[in-house]
Amino acid sequence: MTEPDLFESENSVLAGARAVFANPDAGAQAYRDTLGDLIGHYERLMRETRRLIRRSDREELEMNRLNHRLQDLARELEFRATRDTLTGALNRGAIIERAGTLLAGGSLSLIVLDIDHFKRVNDTLGHPVGDAVIRGVVDCLEQTVPDGGLIGRVGGEEFAALLPGRTLDAAVKLAERMRLHIANHAFALPRSLQVTASFGVSWNPPGTSFEQAYARADEALYQAKRSGRNRVVSLRESDLVLPLH
Ligand code: GH3
Ligand code: MG
Ligand code: MG
Repeated sequence: MTEPDLFESENSVLAGARAVFANPDAGAQAYRDTLGDLIGHYERLMRETRRLIRRSDREELEMNRLNHRLQDLARELEFRATRDTLTGALNRGAIIERAGTLLAGGSLSLIVLDIDHFKRVNDTLGHPVGDAVIRGVVDCLEQTVPDGGLIGRVGGEEFAALLPGRTLDAAVKLAERMRLHIANHAFALPRSLQVTASFGVSWNPPGTSFEQAYARADEALYQAKRSGRNRVVSLRESDLVLPLH
């Protein structure tokens, strides 16, 4: 099937005008009629063109609006995929992914912490109060972490801080500040339920796997729990190579 000619009537007026133009004997009336036809079609084409430009401007605006909305949604999706819904901190998957990337490019100090006797808060005051304590702990961590550090919730009441390029000593000092910040924070709980946390810290050279880095920090955390809780314990790279758990 042949395409319909969109400019059929314009082409026919143009053909008539060419014929008059090519005919040296064409009279004034023929010129006048042809000119009238040309003016009518020219004006119609201008009206149509203006209408099309207006429509294309409107559609461009709408397309820009949809594009911005799409970018907002993509950002929101990325945020939701990497954030813990209760606290807004990075979730476990995001911490593993970022730690892997950081360890591939440099050394990383890793702090892992776990709230002490958290079951008591839930058992005595209920789950919603427990949730509020978890949010409060993340607030304390975020107020303490330096620029370049990342905070994540890696389990129910277990959190991690990634400190790229920091020495073990610097990470231990920071963990100590975090510990004090939590212990001194007013959580609006009875005195018998003072909130504290235990900390394990590991320093890891470039190329360490996340599992190894985590296992060392977790072993230190286990020692902090076993030796009385509400304290910071660190393990140097050479201290131990643990089987993964
Ligand atoms: P420890 O000092 O040895 O860490 O004792 P703990 O009581 O904190 O440790 P345990 O692992 O026995 O208890 C952790 C509790 O955390 C159990 C679980 O019900 C609670 N928990 C886990 N996730 C959440 C959560 O999202 N909200 C609340 N409210 N509680 C949670
Ligand atoms: Mg606990
Ligand atoms: Mg725990």
